[in-house]
Amino acid sequence: MSKKILVFSIIAIIIIGFVIIYFTGQNAADLPIITDTGGAPHSFAIYTEDGDVLYTKNIDKIRKSILNNIVIEAGSFTVTNPIGIIEAPPSKSITDIKQYVLSSIDKENKVLIIYIDGLGYELYERAMEEGNIPYMASLDKGIKALTVYPPITDVAFASMVTGETPKYTGIHNREKRPLLAPTIFDMAYEKGKTSKVIEGNIRILTCDVETILNIDENKNGTIDDEIYRSAMTELKAPPNILLVHFHSYDDMGHKYGPSSKEALEQLRILDSYVESMVKDYTGDIIITSDHGMHDVEDGGNHGDFLSLDLFIPIILKNHK
Ligand SMILES: [Zn+2]
Ligand SMILES: [Zn+2]
Repeated sequence: MSKKILVFSIIAIIIIGFVIIYFTGQNAADLPIITDTGGAPHSFAIYTEDGDVLYTKNIDKIRKSILNNIVIEAGSFTVTNPIGIIEAPPSKSITDIKQYVLSSIDKENKVLIIYIDGLGYELYERAMEEGNIPYMASLDKGIKALTVYPPITDVAFASMVTGETPKYTGIHNREKRPLLAPTIFDMAYEKGKTSKVIEGNIRILTCDVETILNIDENKNGTIDDEIYRSAMTELKAPPNILLVHFHSYDDMGHKYGPSSKEALEQLRILDSYVESMVKDYTGDIIITSDHGMHDVEDGGNHGDFLSLDLFIPIILKNHK
């Protein structure tokens, strides 16, 4: 091969390489930006590719790099290929739940965490307005909070119990991996306190906590009635931290849509469970969720960078 052909080939390969990078790279216009969320103005939450959420007061520039990556320049740091931006984000996040729990524990209060899967903030607000959750509506209004990305159960649940973003929990998807960060249950144990989790038929997180699993004994299509029964039994002598995870609203939401008659009927049932569970409970109570849900053609789904998926309520009761 002559030298000329070799040089020509190398140049051609480089050009083709750049063309491929250019056309497969992200377009700045594709970067999802959620605005008008009612949080503090002139602030931003940037969701990074490695699973973190970074807050900044200002974004100087969003540009494309020579390799066609999107780069956000935000004062003291830059982020390459972000997942999305939330403008004026709520000041609270799912990672703040850990602090509420620890402060209760430090005050020698017991804590009951009622985790209603799939109840995003907008769905919670709509359900209150439409009278579907009369008991929860009678409590102090839930704090609007961010969840992590992707907004799916395993990822958000890991952040809820560790106070860390996926970058530090190591949970970025539904693979069952051990958590990289200590949980509220570990921290409580260190302080000589007990914890229990009540769930459906599988353990969602791989972490060290006593977990009561349940099956659909009466075969009515949901395990939440059995979970509720287990919870009522536990509440007779509750551990320091009791986390009860209900999944039926999310299940019905996937199947029929989060605002369907079927899903809302289930939510009403959960609201009545919540009422009986908290009635005689004297400790601190946190009612929250992991993510929301949006409508799709044949039901509902979540996992996208959408406000419906990314905002959750944190309802506090008894916290002084
Ligand atoms: Zn979930
Ligand atoms: Zn789901």
